[in-house]
Amino acid sequence: PSAHQISLSAVSKSALDVIDQLTRAGYQAYLVGGCVRDLLLKHQPKDFDVATDAYPEQVKELIRSCRLIGRRFRLAHVRYGRETVEVATFRADVTSLGDEDHVTAEGQILRDNIYGRIEDDAFRRDFTVNALYYDPKTEQVIDYVDGVEHLKAGQLLTIGDPATRFREDPVRMLRAVRFAVKLGFELGTEMKQAIADSAQLLHHVPPSRMLDEVLKLFHNGVALENYKVLRALGLFRYLFPFTEQCLDHDSENIAVLALINTDARVNEGKPVIPAFLFACLLWEPLRADAEKLIERGLRPRAAFSTATYDLLQDQALHVGIPRRIGLVIREIWSLQHRLEQRAPKGIVTLLGHTRFRAAYDFLLLRQQVGEVSSELTDWWTRIQEVDHNEQRNMIKALKPVPKKGRRRRRRRAA
Ligand code: ATP
Ligand code: MG
Repeated sequence: PSAHQISLSAVSKSALDVIDQLTRAGYQAYLVGGCVRDLLLKHQPKDFDVATDAYPEQVKELIRSCRLIGRRFRLAHVRYGRETVEVATFRADVTSLGDEDHVTAEGQILRDNIYGRIEDDAFRRDFTVNALYYDPKTEQVIDYVDGVEHLKAGQLLTIGDPATRFREDPVRMLRAVRFAVKLGFELGTEMKQAIADSAQLLHHVPPSRMLDEVLKLFHNGVALENYKVLRALGLFRYLFPFTEQCLDHDSENIAVLALINTDARVNEGKPVIPAFLFACLLWEPLRADAEKLIERGLRPRAAFSTATYDLLQDQALHVGIPRRIGLVIREIWSLQHRLEQRAPKGIVTLLGHTRFRAAYDFLLLRQQVGEVSSELTDWWTRIQEVDHNEQRNMIKALKPVPKKGRRRRRRRAA
């Protein structure tokens, strides 16, 4: 690779400073991974990672302001204002150690915490285009795996046999989709075949790790495309099995609308919350489950709350849903009923509810698929736009909600 492929001006000053300090002290230090890949493609890297032969304690000794994080595998984080440069010590391939502390009998990596040389570090990475190092001093790219060639050819290739690499870490299948879509690269037939054969291994991945990956896939501005590829490769069902069961191939559903909506927001720089996406992805299965409970004789409100509880519990076995996110999902769902009812006395409280905006956005999607009328959504849109007086008039014009809850309860008790 020639020298002028990366313009130094595109490299973060902070990362260059870290590398400078390390190399002055006699260590090796390079930019590595996604940032080198993105720089070669003339994309703006999200962040800059540094790989070095210095041990974390040595990095700490040299750069006092850095923090060591992680217990099993220690990384150094160097803060420069809002930017953090992650400094990792070269690691070795643990799969050849043959000990079950590091690798299961099935070949899944449990712990990846053995230090190594730069060559080892290159080969333990996932894809060839992710295993490139850049030396800012010589302005050379260091490439042990033909990553530069694959980058130019637009090919995403695992380092070594894809099936083996997916067995070591099944999350790499999801990463493959994410990089292929983000970079516009091809997943070769061998990789696709390996994914088809290994997809079920995603069951062995801890749900918390699945959550991290799902958020990367769906909050990066190309969620819809990621979703389509995940579905086509048979991976989506391992993330959202209950959603998969409800998907109808050609009908527009809330899940798809939510992904389109999320992409638009991300690309406009607007904030997105995981709870909204989950609320949308799980809405169809929630409705289906509640429907079944209603058929079995539960009242609608009870059916919805039972279905909510069960569904979130079951879903969390696949993609972890932290409590705080689960709480917001429930709020978005439970506000739907109140938005539909429009009880005059509750309108002002609803408008001031912390989750009103998310619940309203959700209602808009439901209107798009024909679940609620546009008269309803227009009303909620309008009441947010008018002044207090007009709000009062709009509320006055509403019909009071008939009280039937009591009568029912009495009848059931009889
Ligand atoms: P992004 O732009 O999304 O951050 P990235 O390539 O930087 O992409 P990270 O998840 O930040 O991806 O990981 C940094 C680097 O660490 C990768 O480029 C890759 O070399 C290595 N890596 C990360 N996850 C794995 C994994 N599961 N298996 C092997 N190597 C990995
Ligand atoms: Mg990265």
